[in-house]
Amino acid sequence: MSGRIYLDFNATAPLRAEALDAVTAAMAEVGNASSVHGFGRAARARVERARRQVAALVGAAPGSVIFTSGGTEANNQALRAESRPRAFAAAIEHESVLAARGDAVLLPVLPDGRADLSALERMLAADDAPAVVSLMLANNETGVIQPVAEAAAIAHRAGALLHCDAVQGAGKVPVDIAALGADLISLSAHKIGGPQGVGALIAREGLAPARFVHGGGQERGMRAGTENVAGIAGFGAAAEAAAAGLDRFAALAPLRDAMLHRLREAVSGLAVFGDGAPRLPNTAKFAAPGLAAETQVMGMDLEGIAISAGSACSAGKVSAPYVLTAMGVDDALARCAVRVSLGWTTTPAEIDAFVAAWTALWRRAAAGTARAAG
Ligand code: PLP
Repeated sequence: MSGRIYLDFNATAPLRAEALDAVTAAMAEVGNASSVHGFGRAARARVERARRQVAALVGAAPGSVIFTSGGTEANNQALRAESRPRAFAAAIEHESVLAARGDAVLLPVLPDGRADLSALERMLAADDAPAVVSLMLANNETGVIQPVAEAAAIAHRAGALLHCDAVQGAGKVPVDIAALGADLISLSAHKIGGPQGVGALIAREGLAPARFVHGGGQERGMRAGTENVAGIAGFGAAAEAAAAGLDRFAALAPLRDAMLHRLREAVSGLAVFGDGAPRLPNTAKFAAPGLAAETQVMGMDLEGIAISAGSACSAGKVSAPYVLTAMGVDDALARCAVRVSLGWTTTPAEIDAFVAAWTALWRRAAAGTARAAG
């Protein structure tokens, strides 16, 4: 990465040094965490330490953490394992929520990017069949923080479960499962500086999620499969470092805001999405009318700067801008929107370099448009 600038933390974050140490230490040892001999017990100790570290990040009891293969699996387990006849999900949820319950009724979103809770109340009241409501802690595209505690209170009054995909919020803002009132929380290690391919589903005390991956009795029978000891150890180390680094993360907001201020000065009519709502300190989603998102992403990549358009999808394609569409943004503007997401490695000098490169790209594009028109 040397000489290159990484501003795509919401896609994945660099592995933290603490996580790398924990992963390599675990990988250097043999041992199945289910074995009763000393090697197995050492592996088990790594898993249980990580369970305490991950639980602490969200104020949960260690015994309520179920390790999974990532945020996607955690979302699938939360929404599919125990099939409640009715499901509700905000229209801006991650694909792993929307696809896990393709039958979910979509909650509309207000123009500022927050889920419309009066609609949730009405929808839940329409029927009394058992329901699950899924509302993310923070949106991966806009960074808008969702009113999860209020949604949980509404869901519980209607006898529904509240699942919160906290993959983007955890490690960026303080999270407490009891304060959120969530019944289930999903986390992913690679968004907080842990390795890819490991995550967790965390239940409030007294709730035992039904199993989703079937097989052996690992994870107290709630998730089969030999534990990914190295990945889990790295996740735990990253969770501890992320919890200790929350203040530093909060300090990214002024840097992000100064960046947006300078972009706004350069481009009259720059649209900044989710600006009026509480947002993650590291995320900026904006559009310069007429400048296609792909042009920006490729132009910045040529300068060695990583930003993104839409959410990163498995095949490298960019998904339809459904998050902005749900916020009522018109399609032409939505297709010009890019996301810049900062993190603990980001420096003011990197933001200066990005602003310079991006405004130069904008000026070239604007000059090209003027030439074409003339
Ligand atoms: N939920 C949200 C909000 C995300 O941003 C992501 C990843 O982009 C996921 C879930 C999926 O997590 P994972 O990549 O660990 O499967």
